[in-house]
Amino acid sequence: MLRIFLDMDEVLVKYNEPAHKRLDIQMDPWPWPDGMFELPCYTQEFWQGLDYDFWFHREPTDYANAIVNLCKTIVEPEQIWVCTTIAPLSTGIDLIAKMAWMNLHYPWLTDRLIFSWDKSFSAVRSSILIDDYWENIKAYRKAGGHGILVPAPSNFLKRSDVMTHVRRQLFKLIESGVAS
Ligand SMILES: [Mg+2]
Repeated sequence: MLRIFLDMDEVLVKYNEPAHKRLDIQMDPWPWPDGMFELPCYTQEFWQGLDYDFWFHREPTDYANAIVNLCKTIVEPEQIWVCTTIAPLSTGIDLIAKMAWMNLHYPWLTDRLIFSWDKSFSAVRSSILIDDYWENIKAYRKAGGHGILVPAPSNFLKRSDVMTHVRRQLFKLIESGVAS
């Protein structure tokens, strides 16, 4: 049975832009240069500056609903899961705020919200991870699952249209028989 695992930060909810604005960090260069995946500003102070209000009061991405609705055309809602990373140096506040965020925006997904550093635990031949972090996609594919990289300023697809790319990749996987 096909299952789809959705990343949260930068897939369902805005992350990079509000984090940098909140901490008054220069957005330049934006999008990030090719080959750069982490900014040097990712320090202890950076992570400790992200409190409950930050994690909770973020807007959904412009394409969150489109991705979720696309997944619903492929699988039943109960086969859609959300898998998100715990923030470095987390005190747990990000987990609580993310659960509250999910309950507000996608309450039907709250029961299938998973926190894990390593998303490849769910990787099988009939699972797809939709994530903006290339390292996660690579690890997921290596573990035997399928991955779709969501274009973001922090990855090499940054110049691609998000929904055109995600839709094309998803249908390519379906046509390859991933759901059968
Ligand atoms: Mg992400």
